[in-house]
Amino acid sequence: MLFRLPVFLCCTVFTKMVRWFCSSALCFNNHNSLHDKGKPIKAYRLPRNPQVQAEYRNILKNSGFSWKNGHICAEHWQNGVRMDTNDLPNVAVSSSQVDGHRIKYENALKAVNAATNVSAKQREP
Ligand SMILES: [Zn+2]
Repeated sequence: MLFRLPVFLCCTVFTKMVRWFCSSALCFNNHNSLHDKGKPIKAYRLPRNPQVQAEYRNILKNSGFSWKNGHICAEHWQNGVRMDTNDLPNVAVSSSQVDGHRIKYENALKAVNAATNVSAKQREP
C-alpha cells in the first residue's frame, strides 16, 4: 500500500533553506547574520542585466563570485531595502562591518610587527 502525503505538506518538508554569502569583498554577512535588532539580514539575488551588473561591480569590489547564483545583502542599500531589480546598491561598507574590518586590520598589523621583530632578532648576532 502506497502512503501519500498531501502536496502542501510535501513541499513544506522538502523546501531547502537558502545558504547565501554576500558577494561583496568588504562584507562578512551570510545566511546566519542578524541585524542589530536580532532579525535576519535579507539577501537579494544579483541582477541578470549586464548593464546593471556593471553598476554593481563598483559596490561589490569583487570578481570571485557567480552572477547566476550570487547574493548581495540588504545592508548595501542606505534604507536597508532594494526596491526593485534595477535599484542600485549605494553602500560599499555598512556601518556594522567597519568594526570587523578594523579588528582584522589591527590583528594583521600585530602579526606583521611580530614577524618583523622575530626576524630582526634572528638576524642579530
Ligand atoms: Zn553585504
